[in-house]
Amino acid sequence: MTRLPGRLVLLGHPVAHSLSPAFQNAALRAAGLATEYEALDVAPADLAATLDALRRAQAAGNVTIPHKAAMLAACAEITGVARRAGAVNTFWTRDDGTLAGDNTDVAGVEAAVRALLPSLPDRADVAVLGAGGAAAAVLTAAGAWGGGALRLWSRRPEAARSLAERFPGVAMASESEVAAVRGAALVVNATPVGMRDDAQPCPVEWLDPGATVLDLVYRRGETPWVLAARGRGHAAADGLGMLLEQGALSFERWFGLAPDRAAMRASVA
Ligand code: NAP
Repeated sequence: MTRLPGRLVLLGHPVAHSLSPAFQNAALRAAGLATEYEALDVAPADLAATLDALRRAQAAGNVTIPHKAAMLAACAEITGVARRAGAVNTFWTRDDGTLAGDNTDVAGVEAAVRALLPSLPDRADVAVLGAGGAAAAVLTAAGAWGGGALRLWSRRPEAARSLAERFPGVAMASESEVAAVRGAALVVNATPVGMRDDAQPCPVEWLDPGATVLDLVYRRGETPWVLAARGRGHAAADGLGMLLEQGALSFERWFGLAPDRAAMRASVA
């Protein structure tokens, strides 16, 4: 961006549960910026009108469920990574009043993997559970890892097949969940399972002894799957690291400076 945004918003439906306002406002305060980051609950039918108003206000912000794909269509300029992921989670208004979109979820996934593993999975198999937007971000990141097989499983096999087809040479749909997980060095949960109850995306007994677990779900006290995997000696992390990093990278897009990541983390500790 060439000037400060007139408004800074999160567009989603619902958004009340989001941690983004807490850590983005912590970053803004740490940077001495007076802007306030606001969560806007926008129903899909109201997105176009909301975007018109935001364009006029020279706004920037984040986009979450269910608007990430619609935002891709609404932006006049899209980064290559957003196009590959099929989703925009970060936007800003250009000087000519049109919107530009990027996707920082992809780099957020990669940062979460780097924090868990000594190096990115190279010639090691990866399993991804789920075939929605978060899985697409993982597949986009994995396209640069190279090497091993990426097995994608979804409860609707056609969803896994159609997502895998968007990433030829990167991912293949798995016949069964257990076949996806067995032999994988990294197993990623990209479903909402475990967000609100004690359900787990797959039994930890299926994991190879050295497997690492990345749960993109986050909640207070970590997720049941992360706790169960760690209890069996696996390296495991929930989605909070990814969430904070995608937010930090969005902040960099809007303001051209790195936020205080420690202040962001402390605000949601
Ligand atoms: P999405 O586009 O709605 O996709 C969800 C996927 O999970 C779909 O494949 C869906 O299958 C599957 N699924 C839903 N409920 C399931 C269940 N009970 N059992 C098995 N599979 C199930 O959502 P998303 O954007 O990919 O997000 C998925 C989750 O990732 C979110 O709930 C969130 O917790 C997490 N996430 C975290 C971050 C982060 O920064 N940490 C960022 C994005 C997302 P169907 O198509 O059959 O419904």
